[in-house]
Amino acid sequence: MTKPKQSIIDTRRDQMFPVLDATEVERIRRFGTVHTYAAGERLVKVGDAGHGLTVILSGRVEISQHDVAGRKPIVTHGAGSFMGELGQLRGRPSLVDGYALDPAEVLAIPPDSLRALLIAEAELGERIMRALILRRVGLIEVGAGGPVIVGREGHGDVLRLQTFLSRNGHPHLILNPETDAEAKALVERFHVDPGQLPIVLCPNGQLLRNPGEEELARCIGLIGPLDPNRVYDVVIVGAGPAGLATAVYAGSEGLSALMLDGRAFGGQAGASMRIENYLGFPTGITGMALMARAYNQAQKFGVEMSIPSEAVSLLAPEKNGRGPFVLKLADDQRVRARSVVIASGARYRRLDIKNLEVFENASVHYWASPLEAKLCAGQEIALVGAGNSAGQAAVYLASHVAKIWLLVRGKSLKASMSNYLVDRISNLSNVEVVTKAEISSLEGKDGSLEAISWRQGPSQEEIRRPIRHLFLFIGAEPNTKWLARSGVNLDSKAFVLTDGAAGSRRPLETSRPGVFAIGDVRSGSVKRVAAAVGEGAQVVTALFQFLSENEHIGNAVKRTVT
Ligand SMILES: Cc1cc2nc3c(=O)[nH]c(=O)nc-3n(C[C@H](O)[C@H](O)[C@H](O)COP(=O)(O)OP(=O)(O)OC[C@H]3O[C@@H](n4cnc5c(N)ncnc54)[C@H](O)[C@@H]3O)c2cc1C
Repeated sequence: MTKPKQSIIDTRRDQMFPVLDATEVERIRRFGTVHTYAAGERLVKVGDAGHGLTVILSGRVEISQHDVAGRKPIVTHGAGSFMGELGQLRGRPSLVDGYALDPAEVLAIPPDSLRALLIAEAELGERIMRALILRRVGLIEVGAGGPVIVGREGHGDVLRLQTFLSRNGHPHLILNPETDAEAKALVERFHVDPGQLPIVLCPNGQLLRNPGEEELARCIGLIGPLDPNRVYDVVIVGAGPAGLATAVYAGSEGLSALMLDGRAFGGQAGASMRIENYLGFPTGITGMALMARAYNQAQKFGVEMSIPSEAVSLLAPEKNGRGPFVLKLADDQRVRARSVVIASGARYRRLDIKNLEVFENASVHYWASPLEAKLCAGQEIALVGAGNSAGQAAVYLASHVAKIWLLVRGKSLKASMSNYLVDRISNLSNVEVVTKAEISSLEGKDGSLEAISWRQGPSQEEIRRPIRHLFLFIGAEPNTKWLARSGVNLDSKAFVLTDGAAGSRRPLETSRPGVFAIGDVRSGSVKRVAAAVGEGAQVVTALFQFLSENEHIGNAVKRTVT
């Protein structure tokens, strides 16, 4: 009999729910205000925003999760325990309900004071931060407090929404109306035709029909309106390793920073199932784990996140060039900043096949995460690419799928893949490397692939296999379309020029003073996580230099806007 998988609550309960002693509670009293609640009174309900941390001074508070079947208790907090999870660093909507079981007295610490506490109280801050992170992991594990997606698993749009929520570390549940009675009841209650699926039920009760990622993010409180009058010290475009490093160093040095990303935090690194060459992780680390740590760290230092928010253009500065930079976002909002860091990285290249787009939601994948591994479990798949990202994906997927056809355009893997990956692949009996191979056609129906054909070897023999999932790792192009007409000069391949090549005197500065570029998007950059992180840290010094020489920028506008 297989042992049931233990939940994080079972394995790390003490760290998830630490109890502060009386001296510790006294030490943090200065960060909050005292409130009292009667027995049975609600302290917080799912969807309420702005709470921060609530330390129980006396009495008991029950925390429960809310799902389609009703309320389920998670934990009861007594004196010295505290209520809150990761989202409270920025006062995001609560994912749980909290009720006083007895008359209770609590210390309410709002989000900005919580961040100040974490920085001022190093040891205590570490324990609290760890608890907040573990609680979020626990909620993700059971899908509590987040939206409920009703639709068939593996359906292209379900996968799209699921990927979006997973990559943003947000709990969610998927219910299939064909097999789940509660999902069927929801579909009937809201009179949804099968063609309108998936539907999404947000914790605030709002129903969305096959929403876009931004609509969903708004509904669950991940993003809200940005203040058009606020002038940030820096806006960072892109939350990959480069942008996140800038956020951590800028935030910790006291700059006011806004971070934008059109998809999710983590960038390309977030798609890696095992980064083995990043300093300090001898056993390797998943890209998502590394990036989630950086994302939480940046939030601890007060960096404001707006994800998903895509920058669509960098406009000319106001006030005849003496005002702040203005960025226009995809939803037409505008944000202002004294300086800009371009960390928009690169985007996977697509295969030049005429009907590729038809299969892109459900059968063609650009990431190899547990989600895709589950979709392809026990099947035969094709993977195209010969770089390290292709190698990592093949190694990861090999333990889940029946067979991988690794299609390589060149004569061998050695020219473009690190040795350690080439060796590992050669030891995998279910990976067949096919050289001089090129996909010639895709067949299928209703958006799902049924067969793939390719030409291979010196004779260019045509092979057709019944394959339902295709993975593409064929390199990346810079994300610089949004910089058209921005005055930022690009090289012949559309990467951003910096330093001397851009005629700039500050390191990492582009042809527009005050606009910097770092990481994969920068012309001549080394395409590695460590290099991106290094540039993210380095650019903060250049930002300080620019800001101190151009103090007029924000002030000039503040006067006109307010
Ligand atoms: C599968 C895979 C495995 C890898 N493995 C390794 C490895 O093991 N070791 C290693 O060192 N490197 C690895 N790399 C390379 C490494 O991930 C990249 O070098 C690194 O992520 C680059 O970081 P970046 O922050 O510059 O850009 P990216 O990681 O590309 O991040 C850019 C971010 O900007 C966002 N963005 C783009 N345009 C906009 C816009 N207009 N508005 C708002 N946001 C925008 C994107 O959504 C993205 O999140 C791997 C890459 C891949 C794809």
